[in-house]
Amino acid sequence: MGDNVEFDTEIDVLVIGAGGCGLVAALAAAERGATVAVVEKAPRLQGNTALSSGSVPGAGSRFQRAAGIADSPARYAADLRRIAGPHDADALVDRLAGISAELVEWLVDSAGVAMTLVETYRHVGHGVPRLHAPPARRGADLVADLERAVAARDIPLALGQEARALITRDGAVRGALTVDAEGREARIGAGAVILASNGFAAARDLVAAHCPQAARARYAGAPGSTGEALRWGTALGAATGNLGAYQAHAGLAEPSGALVTWTVVERGGFIVDGNGARFADETLGYSAFAAPALAAAPPLHMIYDARIADDVAAGQPEFAELAAAGGALAADDAAALAARIGVPAETFAATCRAAADAAEGGATDTFGRRQWGLGALRPALRATRIAPALFHTQGGLMVDGDARVLARDGTWIRGLYAGGGAAVGISGLSGGTGYVSGNGLLAALGLGYLAGRAAGRQAGAEAGDAPATELQTQS
Ligand SMILES: Cc1cc2nc3c(=O)[nH]c(=O)nc-3n(C[C@H](O)[C@H](O)[C@H](O)COP(=O)(O)OP(=O)(O)OC[C@H]3O[C@@H](n4cnc5c(N)ncnc54)[C@H](O)[C@@H]3O)c2cc1C
Repeated sequence: MGDNVEFDTEIDVLVIGAGGCGLVAALAAAERGATVAVVEKAPRLQGNTALSSGSVPGAGSRFQRAAGIADSPARYAADLRRIAGPHDADALVDRLAGISAELVEWLVDSAGVAMTLVETYRHVGHGVPRLHAPPARRGADLVADLERAVAARDIPLALGQEARALITRDGAVRGALTVDAEGREARIGAGAVILASNGFAAARDLVAAHCPQAARARYAGAPGSTGEALRWGTALGAATGNLGAYQAHAGLAEPSGALVTWTVVERGGFIVDGNGARFADETLGYSAFAAPALAAAPPLHMIYDARIADDVAAGQPEFAELAAAGGALAADDAAALAARIGVPAETFAATCRAAADAAEGGATDTFGRRQWGLGALRPALRATRIAPALFHTQGGLMVDGDARVLARDGTWIRGLYAGGGAAVGISGLSGGTGYVSGNGLLAALGLGYLAGRAAGRQAGAEAGDAPATELQTQS
């Protein structure tokens, strides 16, 4: 909608969506002196950030240095490129890796987020431990800390207020039309609008069009990821990138839907299909393994042993809760476990023997797996029934190094910023194989931080506080 709209209220920066991206963007913009407001369509903060484990990468952080871990943005960027391969947003890889340590330290120091370096297990795709997470590894804690910081700075956060359309003037985005739970409309004018409304994984039409591989998977992300940013942005002429990329997870416990951490695989666990046979290299990672898992004969089971169960539960409370709630079937040997999970005993026994031979180095694994953690499984054995799921999409609106939305003609869409699932990600061109742990929150919090600072700076520049030339740089 456009041009001659009368605004009900006007501010410097309007943030659409109150997940990790939106809350960080609001804080960063306010820090630059801008007047900011956040609108959130859900009645409470229940986006993907709250569902996540809250793990945020920071390459070269002071927390790594204190733990004696040598790391750098260049090393991190190399890890990201090795896994993702070539894609549409290569420049963002260096940009986001470059600010990742600063971001984590800012979260702790300025936003008051409780975070520690995760050292108990190695995350998928990372050469060194570099993910920082809330002590209980819950994204809901990260969101609660950010929400507290937003409230402490008196930034208005309107829950149950959905953005329905962007408002443009002279080709620039200048606000949004919002509707609250009672159906009351408000036209909010803003010098800049930050799209922090996540991706399109909950919009089945968009998933079928852009990520057909994932269309058959159960959806386990937040309900609010319905693709408004993509629809509005493309209507305004925005360029898009990496639209076929997504993060899946091959290991959601059935029927509870709890996440079975891939640390179980890292420690030596493996996955069998409904025939009791393995079908791919599990160390591909939880996202990449989803494609072969979708093609395999169900039901699938993660197979591990009591040592792995205890080891993983000690570092990850959610896994302990899953086991305590009956999510881990136990048996003394392969024959008994085959009976419990309902697969042919002979095939399952042969699968266990072959995995043990490969783990002990006596045989080459048929699927090329080389890492077996604690080695061959030992009695007593455990099994958890799992199924693959789609978590979130990793493609979206193309942005520059300040999270400003780029148009298809190479210029910018003035006044429009995007981050998190709304923006292009760094997880490859398509499919689930390019996702490295932490890519989701890096794009959310990192682009939110950059968008907030740039939009806040723009407000400052318009008020005469900062050199206008800063706005011209495409970093
Ligand atoms: C189970 C799970 C585990 C994960 N674990 C990790 C992890 O450990 N590390 C990692 O890096 N990534 C992880 N991810 C991915 C990560 O959570 C997401 O990439 C990231 O949280 C996206 O942040 P966001 O702010 O863009 O979106 P969200 O946190 O989803 O926030 C978007 C918000 O916008 C709101 N919204 C949408 N449309 C509108 C509108 N029209 N008007 C107003 N509000 C709107 C939504 O309701 C939502 O609250 C995980 C994802 C899942 C599902």
